[in-house]
Amino acid sequence: MSDRLENSATIRALFGGTFDPIHYGHLKPVEALAHEVGLQHITLLPNHVPPHRPQPEANVQQRLHMVELAIADNPLFSVDVRELHRTAPSYTIDTLEEIRKELGEEKPLAFIIGQDSLLTLHYWYRWKALLDYCHLLVCARPGYSDTLDTPELERWLDAHRTTDTSALKQQPNGLIYLAHTPLLDISATDIRQRKHDGMSLDDLLPTSVQRYIDQQGLYR
Ligand code: ATP
Repeated sequence: MSDRLENSATIRALFGGTFDPIHYGHLKPVEALAHEVGLQHITLLPNHVPPHRPQPEANVQQRLHMVELAIADNPLFSVDVRELHRTAPSYTIDTLEEIRKELGEEKPLAFIIGQDSLLTLHYWYRWKALLDYCHLLVCARPGYSDTLDTPELERWLDAHRTTDTSALKQQPNGLIYLAHTPLLDISATDIRQRKHDGMSLDDLLPTSVQRYIDQQGLYR
């Protein structure tokens, strides 16, 4: 493969979340990650929340619409609604398996998570198998420990960790990259609480999303 072709190898990058609501703590770190790693595109993947789990305050259409508003002027992002249309319980790994089939075996696929998700990854269904389908790119998040809770998770991280961003393009899956993205102390929980308390949401999420929250009477 020529150097030019090698350098143009792209990573299909996915970023899953409940997005209740989407906020700058989601958008800004992953934009920085795109620069750090050389991602040309990021697909946001709003979650289906199964009925037995605590439900988001916004409904599926509202969560999706907030994502669409937040990325409307930003060609870095698109949204994939496949999980929202699920009726049966499904897990992240099922989606990754499906997307890997669409993409073929060779192309790099990455799933983006925040540091808090890394710390609880061992509770995810078939967590060790995630790397059979994709790389994991981890955005820094303030207020969460750098050290992992269980020796098993720690060993797994050590075995798969890379600090070399070019390695992420040279193999299709199997690596974990801890990014040096900016720390934004923003959470959807805090935003919902602020709204309940009648406080301002300025600087926490795009104004188009704020307007929609007001129009819909969300998080009152
Ligand atoms: P909630 O407060 O309702 O739990 P949240 O703000 O953590 O929500 P989610 O939609 O659950 O948002 O998060 C989706 C993904 O984004 C997760 O992988 C999470 O780790 C990551 N994430 C959320 N907020 C931040 C942040 N401020 N910095 C880095 N990553 C974040």
